[in-house]
Amino acid sequence: MTGNMKGVCVFCGANPGNRPEYADAARTLGHAIAARGLNLVYGGGKVGLMGVVADAALEGGARVDGVIPENLMNRELGHGSVTQLHVVGSMHERKAMMAELSDGFVVLPGGFGTLEEAFEVLTWGQLGLHRKGVVFLDVDGFWSRLFDMIRGMEAEGFVRPEHGMIAMRADTPEQALDILANYRPPEVTRWIERVAQA
Ligand code: AMP
Repeated sequence: MTGNMKGVCVFCGANPGNRPEYADAARTLGHAIAARGLNLVYGGGKVGLMGVVADAALEGGARVDGVIPENLMNRELGHGSVTQLHVVGSMHERKAMMAELSDGFVVLPGGFGTLEEAFEVLTWGQLGLHRKGVVFLDVDGFWSRLFDMIRGMEAEGFVRPEHGMIAMRADTPEQALDILANYRPPEVTRWIERVAQA
């Protein structure tokens, strides 16, 4: 995505995590999205880092689209004050709509759900189904173990280095948004090494 980025999708924990730095980063990111005149797209809940990033973006005057499955409305407390809360039928619909409404993805610290969402858009990028950037905001080195894993998958021949680069890393929210605004996807169409059968 270059130049005309508008919707920024944030994947993040439904929990706040054990350190205040995580919520601080979510808040700063929400404010930065608003300050740049961008929209926030997120999971639609009020809990954990989700609620923090949404409240900060709203506070800064951003349009906020929340996308929440009906069965999570109670558990994740559907946010009543977002610009638009899209209540969808399934987790699959949620991810599809979040991706559709946005031009790039920022991944804050989180758990299984956050990883699942991030890796789905990474694999879609690898397959060339979209050309949007995916940046992990590495709050206090939270994602360093993940990047070790990705470098390991490259070293062992399971991920092409050009595709490993699709998973990008930022130290600050401002840097994450800069990276997304300037992102150009790698021009690689193959992700499987074909080995001739003997
Ligand atoms: P977590 O990182 O586990 O705290 O989850 C973060 C968010 O991801 C929560 O809003 C979860 O409901 C959501 N989530 C978890 N699994 C999925 C999935 N398969 N599809 C869409 N959203 C999911």
